[in-house]
Amino acid sequence: MSSYDVLIVGAGHGGAQVAIALRQNKFEGNVAVVGEEPDPPYERPPLSKEYFSGEKTFERILIRPMSFWRERGVDMLLGRRVVAVDPVAHRVTLGDGSSIGYGKLVWATGGAPRTLVCPGHDLKGIHGVRTRADADRMLTETQKAKHVVVIGGGYIGLEAAAVLTKLGKHVTVLEAMDRVLARVAGEPLSRFYEAEHRAHGVDIHLNAKVDCILEKDGWVSGVQMQDGSVLPADMVIVGIGIIPAVEPLIRAGAAGINGVDVDTLCRTSLPDIYAIGDCAMHANEFAGGARVRLESVQNANDQGTIVAKAITGNEAPYHAVPWFWSNQYDLKLQTVGFNLGFDEAIVRGDITTRSFSVVYLKQGEVLALDCVNATKDYVQGKALVVGKAKPNLARLADPRTPLKSLLAV
Ligand code: FAD
Repeated sequence: MSSYDVLIVGAGHGGAQVAIALRQNKFEGNVAVVGEEPDPPYERPPLSKEYFSGEKTFERILIRPMSFWRERGVDMLLGRRVVAVDPVAHRVTLGDGSSIGYGKLVWATGGAPRTLVCPGHDLKGIHGVRTRADADRMLTETQKAKHVVVIGGGYIGLEAAAVLTKLGKHVTVLEAMDRVLARVAGEPLSRFYEAEHRAHGVDIHLNAKVDCILEKDGWVSGVQMQDGSVLPADMVIVGIGIIPAVEPLIRAGAAGINGVDVDTLCRTSLPDIYAIGDCAMHANEFAGGARVRLESVQNANDQGTIVAKAITGNEAPYHAVPWFWSNQYDLKLQTVGFNLGFDEAIVRGDITTRSFSVVYLKQGEVLALDCVNATKDYVQGKALVVGKAKPNLARLADPRTPLKSLLAV
């Protein structure tokens, strides 16, 4: 078919959810998903967790089996990349020069891993982690690797470090800032994860400045630091963020500097074009109305649902509570809310028990929680975030106080 009522670009979390929710909302028009990767939509988080460790097969991380899409009349146009958008003609051009028309276009393209820029950045053995193909390459090389250097102490880097350590590799994490998870978490959580990784044998370098990647026979052999020291490495994993994949849309005239700008219904500045997920910059009420680009499954799914509703005439502005998780070793971190601009971080419980929460507040109001092996706090804490609760701080800090009892205080 050369034209679809709804054309979704990006066969990832957000794109899949739009198609699912369109059919759930009884949309009867024709729908296609164009995806650059050869696979139907799959869950990305396991790529640095259960898929990378071998605990889950690829079939187990598919968002839906291929039959699901067929049965619902959703065409999966896989292994194809959209390279240009013509918002006037309502057509997109693919990499092979062919074009597809659309009634509504949904841009759900996520982002590409940010790469190193230092000498040696493109050697064999250096990996970003975004796709199944990335994870498969890493899995193959992991078998013979002894020394792995992970550049970037964010969630993806630390999760990969945890898996590799369990596999018996010597792992070094290089973090440019003075603590791991600095962009996303408060100091108590950063220090806790730093200590956990060190206790599992991970070598963590903070304030680390990479000079170049060293090579032997075209393959990575080490990482040279700016102080001249050299860390041996036969594999390097780079987890330093993503660059939103919005270039064709921006070239077509969509507004956006960091990703593409969308309103509360995920509409871009171009007619009949929506954008969702990691590539969409939106004003988030849980960030005090600040414009943010969230990189989470929750955000991609919830924005996907918003778009499907808008297309089927059930417009509902986006105001979902942000949540996220990370699994490292036997630690299950669950976060809810958005800690942007917090002025106080209260630790609830004893960190040494490895079950505690960090509650972030701003002028006494609960903004967010990071809950480590503390699912009850996570579940009950959500209401504090939604209700913008201002609890008694002594009671909040006492883990014997159920969080739900602090709601009305
Ligand atoms: P994606 O799922 O990335 O899908 C975008 C798709 O669009 C990709 O398949 C891409 O190839 C395709 N595409 C790009 N450009 C084009 C084009 N021009 N034409 C056609 N197709 C195109 N989130 C959590 O909430 N919890 C976690 O624990 C967590 N762990 C993660 C671990 C890893 C290793 C990674 C990589 C991500 C993790 N995330 C996690 C983030 C989460 O996976 C993303 O927020 C989510 O996938 C975003 O969905 P999306 O639809 O915006 O983009």
